[in-house]
Amino acid sequence: MNSEGRPTQPQIATPLAPQTFTGARALQIHEALIFDTGRLDFTGVDLDPPKPFTPRLGGLERKSEIGLPGLSEPETMRHYVRLSQKNYAIDMGPYPLGSCTMKHNPRLNEKMARLPGFADIHPLQPVSTVQGALALMEELADWLLKLTNMDAVALTPKAGAHGEMCGMMAIKAAISARGEAETRKVVLAPESAHGTNPATAAALGFSVRAVPAGADGLVHPEAVAAALGPDVAAIMLTNPNTCGLFERDIVEIARLVHEAGAYFYCDGANFNAIVGKVRPGDLGVDAMHINLHKTFSTPHGGGGPGAGPVVLSSRLAPFAPVPFLKREGDRLTLVEETEGTQSFGRMAAFHGQMGMFVRALAYMLSHGADGLAKASEDAVLAANYVRVCLNDLFSSPFGDRICMHEVLFDDRWLKDTGITTLDFAKAMIDEGIHPMTVYFPLVVHGAMLIEPTESESIVSLTLFIATLRDLAIRALRGETERFLGAPYYAPRKRLDETAAARKPVLRWTPPEPIED
Ligand SMILES: *Cc1c(COP(=O)(O)O)cnc(C)c1O
Repeated sequence: MNSEGRPTQPQIATPLAPQTFTGARALQIHEALIFDTGRLDFTGVDLDPPKPFTPRLGGLERKSEIGLPGLSEPETMRHYVRLSQKNYAIDMGPYPLGSCTMKHNPRLNEKMARLPGFADIHPLQPVSTVQGALALMEELADWLLKLTNMDAVALTPKAGAHGEMCGMMAIKAAISARGEAETRKVVLAPESAHGTNPATAAALGFSVRAVPAGADGLVHPEAVAAALGPDVAAIMLTNPNTCGLFERDIVEIARLVHEAGAYFYCDGANFNAIVGKVRPGDLGVDAMHINLHKTFSTPHGGGGPGAGPVVLSSRLAPFAPVPFLKREGDRLTLVEETEGTQSFGRMAAFHGQMGMFVRALAYMLSHGADGLAKASEDAVLAANYVRVCLNDLFSSPFGDRICMHEVLFDDRWLKDTGITTLDFAKAMIDEGIHPMTVYFPLVVHGAMLIEPTESESIVSLTLFIATLRDLAIRALRGETERFLGAPYYAPRKRLDETAAARKPVLRWTPPEPIED
């Protein structure tokens, strides 16, 4: 970065790779900001100057230059295609981000989502013209309810975190309906919780009480019992938890929580490990979000907006947000008004992300119930294969326990090497492998959380393992420089991620004119 916070030309530090004239690295082309390339006084099309006319825009007429960079169509095209190629993607290689379930997005799902009856409809169309789309939502809801053994599902939330907000709003509404809004103001969350759990509770005006995890990485009923009281509204618990372990005492924890008059919110982000094997409703869960982009293979981010449906127990179902589906004979309608219901209100303008619903249902139908269970088994098998192949070199915080769909290592094995978890992750980038999740969960020092998912082949897993073993041996052998300077081959090296998050430079400012 230069003093204006704008990226400078990449510096290439490896002795073998010369600084290129263009800043490109082989056919990886350095891309400047479009505002630095396009001239503001230039347009890509040649139009004759307009004949004199009287504008009819009144006060809405633009008074200053529009300030958009002028580029021709091919220049514009190249700019955006080059940018798109800077993204690492699950379609390019393994993306072993623990807790994120970056699995393959089947192309069949994409094809289904593009069918005009799903893709070319509008949320304000009369419901009589979108009966097929509503029927698809109903079928998806039915699958979600059967897989979880729950009573109702809110399809509107747009992501896992939004789903947490929805589930906790239903809990808040249920507590208010009991007249306990003023007394139950605390939400319990284990120390290993994903940041969105305490953030959601705090955003809704609850205070958060941490529940310590045991030395075995699990939440113990005694710890929950000690934290429970008449002031507790709910517990937010992830299962399988963020250490990749199934919470052994979850049924007992649910019993204690209910006995204390509180609700059990389950963070369902790790549902991929247990679909078709365990139904959260059987465990005593009252609300759980399901990240369709994790468990049910819809794209994360770039492929379109997300979806985080929330399943609710019979105790919370009456408080579900509007709109929701209602069947009257062979007609489906959307209930849009809260009047006459106990619904807490509305999470989003419309009914949710149609394209994601289509993809998720296509995934379910193409797998079938047995295929979904098999996917969970294979996800767990893949994680344990990685675990067993690495555990002679890497250190595990909770011993040689069998894990669920992700395997957690800590940084004790790097002690005395001068290499940190971050250095190791950066060296993986040089090898063309996206790093695993690092430094999460916070309860484990220097955490490395690897989730291969069921969609990696044995060949791909073997190369991944061999690469990590090779790097680990080099780290233990003292090839420190290779790690401290990594990534050598990436166009950008180590970014100041904190400054980028805290002080993002989002607006382009024209450079000062050069004085003669
Ligand atoms: C991904 C994740 C979330 C949040 O889900 P988003 O869809 O990213 O908002 C919450 N909890 C856990 C454990 C997660 O892994």
